[in-house]
Amino acid sequence: MEKLLNRLIKENEYLVQYGKVADYIPALKNANPNEIGICIMDVEGNLYSGGDYNKKFTIQSISKVLSLMLAVMDKGEEGVFKKVDMEPTDESFNSLYKLDLPYGEKPSNPMINSGAIVTTSLIDGRGEEKFNRFLEIVRKITQDDNIIYNKEVYISEKETGDKNRAIAHILKNKKLIEEDIEDILDAYFKQCSIEVDCIDLAKIGIFFANGCKIPNTGEALCDEEIGTLVTAIMTTCGMYDFSGEYAAKVGIPSKSGVSGGILGIVPGRFGIGVYGPALDKHGNSIVGYGILKGLSKELGLSIFKSNTEGRFSCVI
Ligand code: GLU
Repeated sequence: MEKLLNRLIKENEYLVQYGKVADYIPALKNANPNEIGICIMDVEGNLYSGGDYNKKFTIQSISKVLSLMLAVMDKGEEGVFKKVDMEPTDESFNSLYKLDLPYGEKPSNPMINSGAIVTTSLIDGRGEEKFNRFLEIVRKITQDDNIIYNKEVYISEKETGDKNRAIAHILKNKKLIEEDIEDILDAYFKQCSIEVDCIDLAKIGIFFANGCKIPNTGEALCDEEIGTLVTAIMTTCGMYDFSGEYAAKVGIPSKSGVSGGILGIVPGRFGIGVYGPALDKHGNSIVGYGILKGLSKELGLSIFKSNTEGRFSCVI
């Protein structure tokens, strides 16, 4: 497996030249586009990795998967989806235009910024408590109490996050968020600044792939139905406005972030973490996409494949 992972990195590293590191958050622009890593964890807890798999980077939008899970745990499905839809969209990740249309009642889905600001607001706790609860869950799933957020990236985003601030004001005006705007944004910016590596993402992936059970200990953190819901929304909305083509070409429920990470979930089988900070025009890791496309093909991982071993076996 590790041979395959290193080969896929080699085969796709040329794509770096066609991508660009995110710079709209100033602290992200120093990332080295040539650092590329991957890690896969299976349900037995075996880890396979390649390249710069232990390079730390900020989780960014991948955190939206966990804020959705926490919001549903705390407020229930109905409590969440009365304030955010679950529809794919052609809006870019930080768009606000649909929100302000007369019929645009709520954010299209929890994987774009407007939807994620709503889900973060729905996590129990006020002020710092919300973020602490978020961090605690990440530490629990990864079994790593040393996970922290990157203060430089957090401050950089807080100082330049006017678009997210504008989104939050519209949400408040529509009564989709209730608490203090700066408190909610603070929790959102901090959750986006949590530092992870590909191993951590693979652990988060296997957590969802295995019915919301903590890797290695097997402890169930929440109802596995919540994991199914999150995985489904990742499939239709997780790769920004490229989610449709990505589903067709890769077929692995995934969520990307602007610092270059991609989290992949192969239900019942694997959790995947990929890193490569050069992004394509949609904001997805350009090398990460190439690697996941190759991996899916080589191992037959698309959830839409009819002949995947064991997947559709049933007792008659
Ligand atoms: N913190 C980033 C923002 O809100 C997350 C964006 C992303 O990764 O898509 O702009």
